[in-house]
Amino acid sequence: MRRRDLDVPFKDREAARRHGARWDRERHCWFVPEGVDCSPLLGWSRAGEFINARAHSYYLLETLHPCSQCGRESRVHGIVLPTGHEIRMHGEDPDSDEWERADEPSLISFVTNLASAVSLRIQQDSLLYRPRHSFADTTCYHYNHCEYCGSVFDEYALFGMPGYGFDVLSEMQAARILVSAVRAGFAGAAEHFSYGVAFLDAMTRR
Ligand SMILES: [Zn+2]
Repeated sequence: MRRRDLDVPFKDREAARRHGARWDRERHCWFVPEGVDCSPLLGWSRAGEFINARAHSYYLLETLHPCSQCGRESRVHGIVLPTGHEIRMHGEDPDSDEWERADEPSLISFVTNLASAVSLRIQQDSLLYRPRHSFADTTCYHYNHCEYCGSVFDEYALFGMPGYGFDVLSEMQAARILVSAVRAGFAGAAEHFSYGVAFLDAMTRR
């Protein structure tokens, strides 16, 4: 698990400390310690850190999904990277990492990091898809939150179960998904990439 380091300007150091950031005296940098909610600290994320995917454009998806807590159908969001996006392949050491071009679109999940321009674009649509700590470990992932009760949606239920959420099996199911094409660059990091997004063309353009 990689520690999340921060770039905190001198004037912000007290605010960052209040939100739980700590100073590493040996490496002279701020970081998010284990168990601290990273979401208020993401504004100080290091540029270029935790990026393993990039693209010249991307798609934002939105659909309705029943909340397992309150039972109501909440809006939920996802991101698809188009054909031609690039994935960082890890080399022996960080300097030998290479970028590999993908020849299929990919639905990404367990997103750990988004470039701030991408975050801002998503926030235009909704504040429901946002980072929080996972329940299993200290990694910070982006999760969908129920718009009625605030509960967190399970990533597998939305992205990893054929026939549910964004993993659709028919054109009819796909039509329930709204898709916005964003003509701006994407940079971010995710732990899971589902290649060959079925029925992307059958989704409803907005
Ligand atoms: Zn709910």
